[in-house]
Amino acid sequence: MKHKPAVFFVRDGVLNMDRGYICKPRELSWISGAIEAIRILNQEEYWIFVVTNQSGIARGFFTEEEIYDFHEFMAQEAERQGAIIHSFYVCPHHPEGTMGIHSCICNCRMPLPGLIEQACQEWPVALDGSFLIGGTQRDIDTRFKILKFVRI
Ligand SMILES: [Zn+2]
Repeated sequence: MKHKPAVFFVRDGVLNMDRGYICKPRELSWISGAIEAIRILNQEEYWIFVVTNQSGIARGFFTEEEIYDFHEFMAQEAERQGAIIHSFYVCPHHPEGTMGIHSCICNCRMPLPGLIEQACQEWPVALDGSFLIGGTQRDIDTRFKILKFVRI
C-alpha cells in the first residue's frame, strides 16, 4: 500500500454531538458537514482515522465491545452516505477508573500520542501532510509535534 497522509478526527464534538459517554446507535447525532468533510477528504485520498478517549470503558459505563459495535455502526452510516472511515482508535483507560485492567495510566489517552502512533504502525501513513481535526486544547496538544491542526 502506498504511503498517504492521514486525517485524524477526534470523535466527540467533531464528528458527532458530544452528549457525554455515548455508545448506542440512537445516541449518534452527526455534526452537520462532518460526513461531507470525510467524503471530500476521501476524494483527496487521505486515510481517515477516528481517535477517541473513551474513559467510560474504564469507568464501567460501557464495554469495549459496545464501543466497537458503535463504531461499526458509525462507519456503516458514513459509508451509506459515501464517506469511508478507515479505522477507529480508542483509549479505554483512565487512572481513576473502576474496571481492573483499564484503570491505569497509559500512553494513549490524548493528549498523549499513543493512538496516532498505533495508526501509523498499522497503516502506511505519510505524516508529512497529515493533520488532526479537533475542537479543544487537549486536541491541540495531541497533534504530536509534526501534525498540523485544524480547530473546528
Ligand atoms: Zn489509553
